[in-house]
Amino acid sequence: MSFWRCCLRGWMAGLWCLAVPLAAAQQPLNESERAYLSAHSPLSLCVDPDWWPFEVIDATGQHTGISADLLALVGERLGLQFKLHVTRTWEESLAASQAGECRLMSFLNRTPERERWLIFTEPLLSDPNVLITREDHPFIADLATLSGKTMALPRGTAMMERLRSDYPNLIFVGTDSETEALQMVSERRADVTLRSLIVAAHTIKHNGWFNLKISGQVPGYDNHLRVGVIKSETVLRDLLDKGIATLTALDRSRVVDRHVSINVVTRVDTDYTVVRWLLALLGAVALTSLLWMRRLHQLNTQLRTLSQTDALTGLLNRHGLESSFALDVERAQRFSRPLAVLMFDIDHFKRINDSKGHLMGDKVLAELGRVIQSVVRQVDTVSRWGGEEFVVICHETSTAQAVQQAERLFQQVRVHVFPHQQPLTISGGVATVRAGDSVESLLARADEALYQAKSSGRDCVCVEARE
Ligand code: GH3
Ligand code: MG
Ligand code: MG
Repeated sequence: MSFWRCCLRGWMAGLWCLAVPLAAAQQPLNESERAYLSAHSPLSLCVDPDWWPFEVIDATGQHTGISADLLALVGERLGLQFKLHVTRTWEESLAASQAGECRLMSFLNRTPERERWLIFTEPLLSDPNVLITREDHPFIADLATLSGKTMALPRGTAMMERLRSDYPNLIFVGTDSETEALQMVSERRADVTLRSLIVAAHTIKHNGWFNLKISGQVPGYDNHLRVGVIKSETVLRDLLDKGIATLTALDRSRVVDRHVSINVVTRVDTDYTVVRWLLALLGAVALTSLLWMRRLHQLNTQLRTLSQTDALTGLLNRHGLESSFALDVERAQRFSRPLAVLMFDIDHFKRINDSKGHLMGDKVLAELGRVIQSVVRQVDTVSRWGGEEFVVICHETSTAQAVQQAERLFQQVRVHVFPHQQPLTISGGVATVRAGDSVESLLARADEALYQAKSSGRDCVCVEARE
């Protein structure tokens, strides 16, 4: 339980840190603000009647939940009074707001569609959206790769609008509620949903859908939940911002904690069997969520490593080398430091494959990878550039030093006993960074020098042509 809360807080904290904590005292109002309030108080408010734990209209017609508590804090600090405009659905609330029946929408994301009639305050609360799938679904690094998969989303939400245009590769299925979106995924009627971490935590926990997991995040899709104000009412928007600026990280986490754990608290006093059952369930969720987070983290790391490593030799692959090469070149140019590139290629490698088989060829490549690493300095970057070609970036190295390094390597290759038990030689080309060089131009010169070495009879290193 406490982990679950911590976990939520951890996610939220990063975003909340941005908020400037001010004193929570009642804020002084200026004359135009006072005049506005005396003309329009109480302020009519439309809310989502069914979005627990963010907000609901309860059986007694009261607005409750996270947004209700945050708005109450803002109201208290500014001396505002709200009057709830009761609706049955979110669509009804949107329609009432558009018809001017309520000055405020309590808690919503800003979208171009909504900006047609609303202006927005700073966020009352921010929380990340996460991709939720069944347990057997692989990690999702990029939503754009999920071709033809179905995503369940509540109808009429800001997210649906954006996702439809950002990810035309997905098939969207509208649902009547948050809960139904998660249920469809749990029951295999949809592949994935994108939900707020807070709502998902609450709903999964509440319904016991433990076959669900967090499979990823979509950058730029965090929820920044703001108060929407009718477009003409800038005084009211600025006034609310004054109050929202007083909300501290602690204010927000207290409110979230109160509602994400509310089911347990209410049932503790009444039914101990249910409480025990719920606590067991929560323990399972806490554990599961811990595993989710760790798994997600592990998968992310694994993915990055895999995509940058050559499986055969364990060296960086071309992609891995390129990830930092441009910066290395730029740094060498800016600080006028020498940087050399050594490109080399095995001589007559095809013969090994042809006479000893491809598998033996693989063993020779892997062994050469080890030999290179044993010879070059730790600070040098070694990569398998492709096939039987390798590239070494030698930092702080002049042309003459790079040639020496290459010759040391060639000598080691000549005397080393490789798995095919026959002599092996390599040819190399050296180029060093010049002003105005790009990664491509530098490598092209190293490649030319390598070609020169091959034409000069192999088993030697050539240096690029002079400027
Ligand atoms: P040269 O001295 O001119 O470089 O001759 P070469 O035979 O080494 O060069 P060539 O480009 O003709 O052949 C390279 C061979 O390397 C062809 C290709 O099948 C083989 N090769 C590329 N990648 C791998 C690999 O991962 N494993 C194995 N076993 N062979 C590979
Ligand atoms: Mg070769
Ligand atoms: Mg080659």
